[in-house]
Amino acid sequence: MMKIFPIPAFEDNYIWTVCNDQYAIVVDPGDAVPVIQYLEKNKLKLLAILVTHHHRDHIGGINDLVELYNTPVYGPRREKIPHMAFPLSEGDVVEFNQLNFRANVIDIPGHTLGHIAYLWNGGMFCGDTLFTCGCGKLFEGTAEQLHHSLQRLASLPDDTLVYCSHEYTLLNLPFALHCEPSNTALKQRAEETHILRAQDKPTLPSTLGMEKATNPFLRCTEPEIIRHIEQHLGSRLPANDEQAAFTALRKWRDLF
Ligand SMILES: [Zn+2]
Repeated sequence: MMKIFPIPAFEDNYIWTVCNDQYAIVVDPGDAVPVIQYLEKNKLKLLAILVTHHHRDHIGGINDLVELYNTPVYGPRREKIPHMAFPLSEGDVVEFNQLNFRANVIDIPGHTLGHIAYLWNGGMFCGDTLFTCGCGKLFEGTAEQLHHSLQRLASLPDDTLVYCSHEYTLLNLPFALHCEPSNTALKQRAEETHILRAQDKPTLPSTLGMEKATNPFLRCTEPEIIRHIEQHLGSRLPANDEQAAFTALRKWRDLF
């Protein structure tokens, strides 16, 4: 039986691991140590390393893992990833029969220019692009690119599981609640998140349906959110311009 398990790393990273009782693949191993511990403890053979983008906290463990296990590295074609044997971009497919795991690759620029996501029937590894109750910062791309990338992810079915790379729900909630204080689904999510984190449990994976109901960056057309953005700006947004609302929201989040 294939399962997907989060290996915690650093302060708030998750190294997602797809495994069965023999094999594993890891996504964005920023640190090799917890991965090696997990593989040794569970006697798993590492089949592949998948990477979403080039930031240090996503690739820092690659050298040691490759040295130890000689594992092939799959990653974004447009970014510099150590030991990358399989550069990927929009339209590519990765397939690991030992795990019965097959994913489609799409380009989701914004957080970085070459950022990719791995989508499969039922879930996504979306790196630092879509977060729970939030989204990635703009390090390289434009707000237009990030908005478009998020829209593509959001077009998947509501029950799609969202495996992002950081435990950020608690961190993102205050801004989300500030933007949309009367959203009852969001208030309920806040309660559940506090309970889970108090027990040191992950709040991930989320679902796209949950994000569409509570994540302000997927809700830029909601009147309450627009009202709060306008209050913050002290001026009106252009009418029916979702992109303008998203851009203003992303900027505001950086200052919040
Ligand atoms: Zn990043």
